[in-house]
Amino acid sequence: MKILVINCGSSSIKYQLYSLERHHILAKGIVEKIGMKGSFLKHEKETGQKVLFEGEILDHKIGIEYVLGVLSSEKHGCINSLEEINAVGHRVVHGGEEFSESVLITDEIIHKLEKFIDLAPLHNPPNLKGIYALKALIPDIPQVAVFDTAFHHTIPQHSFMYAIPYALYKKYGIRRYGFHGTSHKYVSNRACELLDIDPSSAKIVTCHLGNGASACAIKNGKSIDTSMGFTPVEGLIMGTRSGDIDMGAVAYIMDKERIGTKSASTLFNKHSGLLGISGISSDSREIRAAADKGDERCLLAIKMFDYRIKKYIGSYAAVMGGIDLLVFTGGIGENSDVSRAGICEGLEFLGIEIDQNLNEGLKGEERLISKAGAKVKVIVVPTNEELMIAIDTQNIVCEKI
Ligand code: ADP
Repeated sequence: MKILVINCGSSSIKYQLYSLERHHILAKGIVEKIGMKGSFLKHEKETGQKVLFEGEILDHKIGIEYVLGVLSSEKHGCINSLEEINAVGHRVVHGGEEFSESVLITDEIIHKLEKFIDLAPLHNPPNLKGIYALKALIPDIPQVAVFDTAFHHTIPQHSFMYAIPYALYKKYGIRRYGFHGTSHKYVSNRACELLDIDPSSAKIVTCHLGNGASACAIKNGKSIDTSMGFTPVEGLIMGTRSGDIDMGAVAYIMDKERIGTKSASTLFNKHSGLLGISGISSDSREIRAAADKGDERCLLAIKMFDYRIKKYIGSYAAVMGGIDLLVFTGGIGENSDVSRAGICEGLEFLGIEIDQNLNEGLKGEERLISKAGAKVKVIVVPTNEELMIAIDTQNIVCEKI
């Protein structure tokens, strides 16, 4: 079965064409700078052969046309005709309270997704543009929506509610939704598979640490808490997002700086986090390099980043009544041995003990890094949200046939 996985951002389209019988990627690529000067498509075949197309890509529909064109082209493609694509799986950021799992996209579902634009104004509109484009270009091929929020649907109410007037929850759906769900689900399942652990009786903390970062408490196979909230700005310190902050401070800053909600949102989403503290970069590698040369603010940014994650791991161990497995993923979690070591330092009392020989130099590979005999297993699992989307899409489509 061939599944096309589509992830539409505001000015980009990432795609991967999977052959699920052989569980591998036939081709992948990205369209960037949609609607801007210098738009292009970068395409790579499974042979590693790469090609770059530059052209005027004015909107997502034209971008998708480029993608379908290159996938089925004689010279650079990997399929003879578009009919070989059995289904399309879309990453959709927000599924609101309605979607607890992936769904086959129908007109009624599109209508419901349009209603969630209000909840995810930055993410859901481009996701929908991808859906509209594929519906118009290959109308007979089934499409599936896979939600970032769905895995967190099992979070109990006492954990997802904010202590604000209940009427606001009812009126506007103000509550914790959580994001990165596809990644937390994939890495927790994969870690259990690798370590022969039964997820239905395990207490797991997953740390997805990339530009966006979140932690998740997974008890008996279900997400019971996660650090991102109503929006992806809550929780851990991220590349440019503040994470947790006293809302009293938010109101005070808005008042003092005389800024409105839009500027405040930009401040806490785009100018905060590692970038805000270091004043240098949102990229952890650049911060680490400056810290190694003695830059005080970069040293502080790293300490704050690690400390916040440590707090979440501790609190999740508390609410789950212990922890059996700690999983690291995302650009930092997968590649930075020093970050993993910094986060785990001092957590020996919980049974978290890293073997430095196993941890050191480990980049982008699946590997157990805890000491032999340690109470908690600590493992690195590179995330693979696209594969998860492809598998979910296959399952939904096969169910409906
Ligand atoms: P996104 O959330 O945009 O998908 P990524 O998962 O790619 O982000 O993570 C980006 C972060 O990962 C950056 O802070 C970057 O410095 C870090 N990172 C990526 N590769 C490495 C590496 N080889 N070593 C250390 N950090 C890395």
